[in-house]
Amino acid sequence: MNLPCITPPVFVQTALQMLHAAGYEAYVVGGCVRDALLGAEPHDWDVTTNAKPDAVVQLFSAYHVIETGLQHGTVTVVIEHCPIEITTYRIDGVYADYRRPETVSFTQSLDADLARRDFTVNAMAYQPETGVVDLYGGRADLAARRIACVGCATDRFEEDGLRILRALRFASVLDFTIAPETAAAIHTQKTLLLHISAERIWVELTKLLCGQAAERILQDYADVLFTILPELEPMYGFDQCNPHHCYDVYTHTLKVVMGVPAEPLLRWAALLHDAGKPACFTIDERGGHFYGHAVQSVAIAKIVLKRLKSDRKTYDSVLALVECHDTVWSSSDRQLKRLVGKIGLAQARNLILLHRADVGAQAEIHRAERVAHANQMLAWLDEWERQDACMSLKKLAVGGKDLMAIGIPQGKQIGICLQMLLEQVIDEQLCNERDELLAAAKEWKENAG
Ligand code: ATP
Ligand code: MG
Repeated sequence: MNLPCITPPVFVQTALQMLHAAGYEAYVVGGCVRDALLGAEPHDWDVTTNAKPDAVVQLFSAYHVIETGLQHGTVTVVIEHCPIEITTYRIDGVYADYRRPETVSFTQSLDADLARRDFTVNAMAYQPETGVVDLYGGRADLAARRIACVGCATDRFEEDGLRILRALRFASVLDFTIAPETAAAIHTQKTLLLHISAERIWVELTKLLCGQAAERILQDYADVLFTILPELEPMYGFDQCNPHHCYDVYTHTLKVVMGVPAEPLLRWAALLHDAGKPACFTIDERGGHFYGHAVQSVAIAKIVLKRLKSDRKTYDSVLALVECHDTVWSSSDRQLKRLVGKIGLAQARNLILLHRADVGAQAEIHRAERVAHANQMLAWLDEWERQDACMSLKKLAVGGKDLMAIGIPQGKQIGICLQMLLEQVIDEQLCNERDELLAAAKEWKENAG
């Protein structure tokens, strides 16, 4: 296979040239080489060099230099407003806690620096004169679309358990398979993930969920997911015994994950939306039911998101989506407008996107009509956004002060009157225009008084 060539941007070439001119070796390395060889635009460029960190700091003293992790050999240099991480060739010392080496030592050997890296596709270096340095078969694995550890998988996971989740993350994001030896070690050693900090799990699992092959990976490595999130295990293979459902709860869940856009908030909400189903299962002559499962799913989502230390915004939004995922079924345009007034346009859109994916992963009987209605609701939202339609008190053409000015007493009355005006605007009985609203408010005051 012909892989594309690598053309680092000018600010990266400047960094390489300055290091070379000072007599050091310097290469771009890791993710940027992988992505460039795949024909994708790297999102950051990392440089590896045999220059020691203090020499790097000195060499780039004319630039803004941030001493990011001096003890690990990393210095960030800002060239033309773009940051580049420059790290000294490094050998990792003994791993005592399955997480990170107790010590790192600097080395003059690029080979040794590449050997400490996790996967063959992440262990390549490049600079224009020598071309790609590929000592571990990274290019062959890229061509075969395969994730394989550098060296013995068992040893590499023993050193750092997070690599287990990173393997799944890269396979999901790149839509790669995992080489047999690496895959076997992942299943055998998955409990090493229990030594890894919540923050690092959160980052990798979120990227995995947003990957293009998340469904395949989470199906094939469900045991790994349940090691970190045991609360989700009851969903696995759980038969819904209901004509509306053609998949078990876990399979359905993964299809919903793939059915929403690849954004963390939506993917997490999809993963958790039915987590409470197994605990709520009842059965009668009509089949299985899951009354109250959204509330139960919220309880599980709380535990999971707290344990993984998700950020506050994701926590709040995911819980709200999980809680309401079952409520927008057959909303009319007015009901939907009211909902937007309550939860805002962005969250309403997320709720419908989740709902559309949810009904899209059900049995065929009502699927097409339900998906069509969800699409209709999304079209309404687009239309209202374009019109900048009034759906909340904030957008109403009059405020509390205007109502006081026409003699409505301060306090509860103002709120009631504003709400009444908003509802009439939403129901298209009134236009959102100041004079018309004030006239309606006066009439209300007279009738109320
Ligand atoms: P991306 O930034 O696109 O998520 P990446 O490959 O650049 O992917 P980073 O986490 O930024 O991933 O790491 C940069 C490089 O450092 C990797 O390509 C790999 O060579 C090495 N690396 C990162 N984490 C580990 C680890 N846990 N064990 C071994 N090597 C690692
Ligand atoms: Mg990176």
